[in-house]
Order: sequence, then structure tokens, then C-alpha cells
Amino acid sequence: MTRFIFLGPPGAGKGTQAKILADDSHIPHISTGDILRAALKEKTPLGVKAQGYMDRGELVPDDLVQDMVKERLNQDETKSGWILDGFPRTVKQATFLSSLLQELNQSQVKVINLDAPDNVVVSRLLERGRKDDAEDVIRRRLEVYRSDTAPLIDYYQQQKLLVVVNGDQSPEGVTTALKAAISS
Ligand code: AMP
Repeated sequence: MTRFIFLGPPGAGKGTQAKILADDSHIPHISTGDILRAALKEKTPLGVKAQGYMDRGELVPDDLVQDMVKERLNQDETKSGWILDGFPRTVKQATFLSSLLQELNQSQVKVINLDAPDNVVVSRLLERGRKDDAEDVIRRRLEVYRSDTAPLIDYYQQQKLLVVVNGDQSPEGVTTALKAAISS
């Protein structure tokens, strides 16, 4: 059963690697950032509510994102596995996810911590040039990552679910390291 949660700072390569692994395993890649960006583009009520937070590099309120994930994980195509990319991002979201997975009988998961130093992720994000990749917004996203999301590393380590992969190498190098880490 393939169920992975990708943790790591913005710019660590979570999206790229999650996509590769999801395609290889024929399971959905669920990126809360992608879902929110699509909602924003379509100007749905969710998108309208989320926009200001995203533009500033802040987290969208837990309840909004949790509802989104609950709806997605209740869809039939996620029964045989999934990769979560960008969720959970707070301890509250992690607790929510843990009870949701229990309800769905999907508690068997692995958490990949894709790590890379700040200077590496900042220069990658500046090159990528997404709307929220302006330097001041990047700095804020990193601060938010450190204060709200990084505590999840300990949270999952204590549950012995954590696998660490070095994201400070070429995309191909990361894929190789990732595949080795999850098969062991
Ligand atoms: P990402 O594509 O994962 O870098 O996410 C882009 C932006 O979407 C973040 O900076 C947040 O504003 C928002 N976002 C994505 N996932 C979450 C989440 N799990 N909780 C709160 N906000 C999120």
C-alpha cells in the first residue's frame, strides 16, 4: 500500500518528487497548494477566501484546507493509495489527518522529510518565479515553515513514521535516494 506524506520546506522539491512517485505507482498526487491555486484561478468561494493568505505567504486557515483534504480522501480513486504534498502543515492538521485516516482505515503511512538548506531553497524558488515566489513572500513562507510546519518532523519521528531524504542534490539524485529510502 502506497501512502506517503511529503514534508519539507518550500523549494525542497516536494511537488516534483511527489509527482514522479505518484505516476510510477499509479496513485493520485494530492497537492493542497495545487488545489488552492486552481480554486483561486476559478474564483470559487474557497479560492476567494484563500487568496490573501497565499499572496502573503501565510497559511490558509486549517478548517478550509482540512475540508478540502477530507473531500479528496473520500473519493474512490484514493482507495488504493495517494501522495499528500503540502498537507499537513500544522500540528492541528496532522491530528485531523490522523483521525481521518483512522476513519478511512488508511492509517498505514510513511512520512518523507525532504530536506534542503535555506540558501538552496531560496535560490530555487527565485528561479521558479511563481506569484508567491517574490523574495519577501519567500522569506515569510520559510518563517511559517519553521514555526508551524517543522514541528511535524518531531511529531512523525515520535510515531516512527519518518524517512529523511536529502533534497540538496539533482532532481534525479533525489528520486534515486527517495526510491531507495522507501523500499528499505
Ligand atoms: P505550496 O504549493 O504547497 O507551496 O502552497 C502554496 C500556498 O498554499 C502556501 O503558502 C499556503 O498559503 C497555501 N497552502 C497550501 N497547503 C496548505 C496547508 N496544508 N495549510 C495551509 N495553507 C496551505
